[in-house]
Amino acid sequence: MSAGPAVLLVEDEPAIADTVVYALSTDGFAPRWVASGEAALAAAAGTHFALAIIDIGLPDINGLELFRQLQRAYPALPVIFLTARSGEIDRVVGLEMGADDYVAKPFSPRELVARVRTVLRRAQRAAVVAGQPAAPAAFETDDERKLIRFHGTALDLSRIEYRLLKVLVERPGRVYSRDELMERAWDDPGAAFDRTVDAHVKTLRAKLRAIAPDEDPIVTHRGMGYSLREEGREK
Ligand code: CA
Repeated sequence: MSAGPAVLLVEDEPAIADTVVYALSTDGFAPRWVASGEAALAAAAGTHFALAIIDIGLPDINGLELFRQLQRAYPALPVIFLTARSGEIDRVVGLEMGADDYVAKPFSPRELVARVRTVLRRAQRAAVVAGQPAAPAAFETDDERKLIRFHGTALDLSRIEYRLLKVLVERPGRVYSRDELMERAWDDPGAAFDRTVDAHVKTLRAKLRAIAPDEDPIVTHRGMGYSLREEGREK
């Protein structure tokens, strides 16, 4: 019916899903409803979604775990959580993991659609900044070959370095904590330590420096984490 931005809705309660789907489609979005984490992963593999709305309490896998898996495969996909538990812990956990927003149940579908718009605007701004032709598209990621080029030169990266850099490159300006980077780049995040992230960033920087000695595209945010320098920003 609508050819607007595709939004993935992962919600196991049909009554809630119905009202959200209705609100999204009357507002010009193209919602796709699935009721489980498994169905969400299958849907995401076949369609490019502009955004995903994920219920934390799903029948098969936890919404947070689904989010981790989606983030790994699609680091640029913005996510809004739906949570039945309005406890502060859920909110903090959700947002610290890098979700873009959350809505506590019960919520008004209109409010949710407004949040969707806000998050999409933010994501689009980031994408526009990253895609500005004035700035050299220094980084090129090739998902199929699992390689990243920097100024046209393919970087010789370890698996973890590749994942780390991919996360940073896909959202310039977004600051990732060391925990977030571990969640996204390590197979077993529990086995890694903060300084492991630092060590990998250090080797990454050395590899980038070997290609462009004057650039230092990875920014350290003291006490917070790392980001990729936004194009056009002064060093
Ligand atoms: Ca649920």
